[in-house]
Amino acid sequence: TTATASEGKRVLLAAPRGYCAGVDRAVVTVEKALDLYGPPVYVRKEIVHNKHVVTTLEKRGAIFVDETQEVPEGATVIFSAHGVAPIVHDEAKALSLKTIDATCPLVTKVHREAKRFAGDDFDILLIGHEGHEEVVGTSGEAPEHITLVQSPDHVDEVVVRDPDKVVWLSQTTLSVDETMETVRRLRERFPKLQDPPSDDICYATQNRQLAVKQMAAQTDLMIVVGSRNSSNSVRLVEVALEHGARDGHLVDYADEIADEWLDGVTTVGVTSGASVPEVLVRDVLQFLAIRGFTDVETVTAAEESLLFALPNELRRDLKARG
Ligand code: SF4
Repeated sequence: TTATASEGKRVLLAAPRGYCAGVDRAVVTVEKALDLYGPPVYVRKEIVHNKHVVTTLEKRGAIFVDETQEVPEGATVIFSAHGVAPIVHDEAKALSLKTIDATCPLVTKVHREAKRFAGDDFDILLIGHEGHEEVVGTSGEAPEHITLVQSPDHVDEVVVRDPDKVVWLSQTTLSVDETMETVRRLRERFPKLQDPPSDDICYATQNRQLAVKQMAAQTDLMIVVGSRNSSNSVRLVEVALEHGARDGHLVDYADEIADEWLDGVTTVGVTSGASVPEVLVRDVLQFLAIRGFTDVETVTAAEESLLFALPNELRRDLKARG
């Protein structure tokens, strides 16, 4: 394909996009652990839900496992950004594993809320997707107190012990609008429903959705870079379509973009999920530039500067090695 700068063709590039503070910390944790201890370093579950990140770390000597029991006795294991249930810490102890917990501090915050409300004997309505690792981890803090509510349509099925003692919490990577609709319906059923002490849907999820909402109505096609199992990435496609993008697709890599998606398209929106390295977005921009979309305009919805310190266990070892 040759470059043809075409009249009117343009790209709207969302800001913020890509890596959030929790993902950055988790990925750097695995990289530093590989440097410090040498391969192999075991990682329970995908460190973050991105194919490119996982394959890149695998090449450097990370071994991804699904279950704690797959890690050899005495080895080092890193827990992923999505968090783990307390029982997983027990499993690791039983195998004398050295653990490094890369759970995002904003997920840990939700775990703490769950523990506190369970301790006060509340029924906790956890809004989230069944089977998602974060939901499995959070639910594991207080299984007997937590009921999963998957969407507004599931609200009618919810059963509680005492409608006066109910609180909702949520997964960090949901659609803000859909979650608010779920809460609205829950409150219709349980007028005394308490809100979480602070937003559970994290700043990164909110900001990426905000940027997409600002662009969507102007875009003929929204390309979201991200993996299928990345909740926040999948939500970005949905949010784009709900807010007026004519078409929208999730891609792991630029070469998954089908040329026919661009038929008759003047404005392409581009963004990426919180687990997506910027190099993959650059590949998409290059793919589009070759097809005449050379004019790139950034749409900024928020500024981000949050950074998290690395896990304590790792910082201690880094310091000890000088
Ligand atoms: Fe943490 Fe939010 Fe990033 Fe998840 S998306 S790792 S909760 S900052």
